[in-house]
Amino acid sequence: MAIQFIDLKAQYQALKSRIDARIHKVLDHGQYIMGPEVAELECRLAAYTGAKHCITVASGTEALLISLMALDVRPGDEIITTPFTFVATAEVIALLGATPVFVDIEADTCNIDAGKIEAAITPRTRAIMPVSLYGQPADMDEINVIAAHHGLAVIEDAAQSFGAEYKGRKSCNLSTIGCTSFFPSKPLGCYGDGGAIFTSDDALAKAMREIRVHGQEKRYVHTRIGVGGRMDTLQCGVVLAKLERFDWEVEQRLKIGARYNELLAGKLPVVSQRRDRTSVFAQYTVFVENREQVQDKLKAAGVPTAVHYPIPLNRQAAYSALSRVSGSVNTSDTMASRVMSLPMSADLSQQEQGQIVMLVIEALSK
Ligand SMILES: *Cc1c(COP(=O)(O)O)cnc(C)c1O
Repeated sequence: MAIQFIDLKAQYQALKSRIDARIHKVLDHGQYIMGPEVAELECRLAAYTGAKHCITVASGTEALLISLMALDVRPGDEIITTPFTFVATAEVIALLGATPVFVDIEADTCNIDAGKIEAAITPRTRAIMPVSLYGQPADMDEINVIAAHHGLAVIEDAAQSFGAEYKGRKSCNLSTIGCTSFFPSKPLGCYGDGGAIFTSDDALAKAMREIRVHGQEKRYVHTRIGVGGRMDTLQCGVVLAKLERFDWEVEQRLKIGARYNELLAGKLPVVSQRRDRTSVFAQYTVFVENREQVQDKLKAAGVPTAVHYPIPLNRQAAYSALSRVSGSVNTSDTMASRVMSLPMSADLSQQEQGQIVMLVIEALSK
C-alpha cells in the first residue's frame, strides 16, 4: 500500500463502530445545531486540558477570530505574532482592522523567539499570539511574563498542538486563551471544520459564547457584534468518538517522532524539541537545502512530503502592506526555504517509517 502523508483511513477503520454509532445517534435525535454532543464535548475537552471553559466553534480560524473579538481588539491595535505560520493566524487580526506585528522565529524550533518580543511592544499592542508550530508549544512562561508586565493577553494558536504538554500542563491551557482546530488532518480532527477555544476567565468565556451565536445574550437580544460560529453536533460526535483512543494516538505520535529523531540523527537537521515540553507532531519537519530536488525524488519513490510554510506571511501580497515587521525576520525567510515535512500519523507503521527514512537518506545523497 502507498504511504499516506496523514493516514485518516486507517484511523477510521480502527474507530469505525464508535464513529458510526456517534453519527447515527445524532441523526436519530436530530438536534443538528447545539445538540447534546456539543456540551458533552466541551466538558470532556475542558477536563482534558484543565481549562475551566471550553467553547467549541466552527473552525480553528473562527476560534482565533472570536478570541480577538472577545478581547475587544479594534482597528489600529497591534497583535504580536510569528510570520512563520498558517495564514489564519494573521488573517483574523487583519479582519478586525488590527495590525499583525511579526517577530522572528528560533532557527531550531521554528517557534516565535520570545527574546525578541519585548522590542516589538508599543502603546498599541493588545496581545501576543504565539503559535505552537508543528505541535510543540513556544516558550509560554517567558511570553506570559512579558505579557503580564505590559498588561497584554496571550492567545496560544494551538491549532497544531492539541495533546502536547508544556512543563506538565496541556497545550490550550497555557495562557489567557488557547485556540485549537479540528480540521481533519490536525492531531485531533473531525470530518469537516471545527475548533475550540479554552480559557479560565469567566467574563471572556461568556463573551465568546455570545459572539459564537451572533452576539446574542438571549434569543434575538443582541448585545454585541458576533458571528455564526458554532461547531455542528455531528462534528462534535466525531471528535467524541476519536477521543476514545486519543491518549494512545498521542503516545504513538511521541514514539514515532522520537524514532524519526533517532533514525535521522547525523543524517540531516530536524526541528528541535525542548526538554520541558512535548510535541504531538502535527508535522514531523526536517531541514533540507535542495528541497525541490529532494521532494521530487521522494515523490517518485512514493513518499509524499509537504512544506509548512513556503512563504512567510509578511511576504504575502495580502499582508505585506497591512502588517509590520519588528526588527528582521531573516530566520523565518531562511527556514521557509528549507523546511520539509514527512509522513506522520499515529497509524504509521515501524516498517513504513523505516522505508521513509531510507528513501529520504537516499534522496539526499544523490
Ligand atoms: C490549521 C491552522 C489554523 C486554522 O484552523 P482551521 O480549523 O483550518 O480554520 C490556524 N492556525 C494554525 C497554526 C493552523 O495550523
